Amino acid sequence: MSATRLLLLGPPGAGKGTQAERIVAEAGIPQISTGDMLRAASAAGTEVGKQAQGYMSRGELVPDEVVIGVARERLAQDDAKRGFILDGFPRTAAQAEALDRLLADAGVALERCIAISVDEEELVQRLLKRAEIEGRADDNEETIRNRMRVYREQTEPLIAHYRKSGVLVEVDGRGDIDTVAARIAEARD
Ligand code: AMP
Repeated sequence: MSATRLLLLGPPGAGKGTQAERIVAEAGIPQISTGDMLRAASAAGTEVGKQAQGYMSRGELVPDEVVIGVARERLAQDDAKRGFILDGFPRTAAQAEALDRLLADAGVALERCIAISVDEEELVQRLLKRAEIEGRADDNEETIRNRMRVYREQTEPLIAHYRKSGVLVEVDGRGDIDTVAARIAEARD
């Protein structure tokens, strides 16, 4: 059986969102992207959206308590009972610990943390290209560099956290979407 409680971990532009969508289509489990949820909240002008907006436009992390609240509510929804693909959460040690507790309280555990690695210069080029296509407000070069630094300092250390809990699989994120998808499928088995 392929794993259904997954976390995709990797720097901005590594293809987490694209790969998560693939798994959604194939396995019918929901993608939980805190970035998508925060962008929707910001567009809708909700309280959470207002709290998040400034941080997002600067490429900084939204405070843990805000993001943990968003993730907790989403994970509690019915469709997440079948499994989930976390994309962009957790991003800090405090978020990872909160997730561990949330899942333990629900009586389940993360089955895989799939860490996707790609060279930083390739990522910046990918993100600048995405900026042209999608017009995301946080895809300009200065913000992209900041998001990379934030990833290195705050999120990359989570690889060690998941290695320790025995669920880590590292995947090479270079190459086209199909190639990386095949590596991820193997990592889920
Ligand atoms: P993403 O679409 O995952 O790249 O997220 C876009 C932006 O949303 C990030 O640069 C952060 O400002 C914010 N964000 C998304 N997820 C998180 C998280 N788990 N913790 C803190 N901030 C987040």
